[in-house]
Amino acid sequence: MGAKLPKDLLKAEKSKLDNFEGLFMRKIYDFNTFQTKDDDDAWEKVKIKIHQAKIECHQNHNIEIHNIDCDFLIFHQNHRNKELVLCLISEKKIWKIQALNLRQFLDTSTILMNSKIPTWSISPVCQLCSKAFSIAKRRHHCRNCGKNICKKCILVTDYGIEGFCKLTKVCKSCYILIDGQIGIIKNIERSCIGRKDESVKSFIPSSSGKQI
Ligand SMILES: [Zn+2]
Ligand SMILES: [Zn+2]
Repeated sequence: MGAKLPKDLLKAEKSKLDNFEGLFMRKIYDFNTFQTKDDDDAWEKVKIKIHQAKIECHQNHNIEIHNIDCDFLIFHQNHRNKELVLCLISEKKIWKIQALNLRQFLDTSTILMNSKIPTWSISPVCQLCSKAFSIAKRRHHCRNCGKNICKKCILVTDYGIEGFCKLTKVCKSCYILIDGQIGIIKNIERSCIGRKDESVKSFIPSSSGKQI
């Protein structure tokens, strides 16, 4: 019999199977040009589809597809403006997307958050150090990549940033990855603050990691 899965994981797996679709306004920034406050750049109208932890963006005849995975961060959610700020680390791009109404904003936010929760792997060995699991060597799951990991390869964290929600336990390789991502975020913040865009302060995470 399989192990009992946490409730939020079941909810996330079901949510990933939904076919989400809607029209949004979008702006794209490079890391060094991003700003949180309103600017004069024009919004573009796009159709966004989210299914099985992939985000598709349709504009005219172009389609962009990105995985909502370890490289995809939800930076910021602004209820007042119905805006979500998404970071595609591998592309070095930041999307600001604006929903047409509050319902759509909340639904998008929920499906993106659920899509960020990784599917859990089942492996007979630790997927980091290759040691076999047994009654004495229990399985853990990395909350960032979903890999099956032993106690020695897990770190406990308290990342306080929206795009890293509920990352209580991460594997050592994700810890390094997230550390790098935090470095990127801090650079973006510095660049915003340098341009007197003070509202960016909310991105700054509180992070620490320790062995359990
Ligand atoms: Zn291990
Ligand atoms: Zn991991």
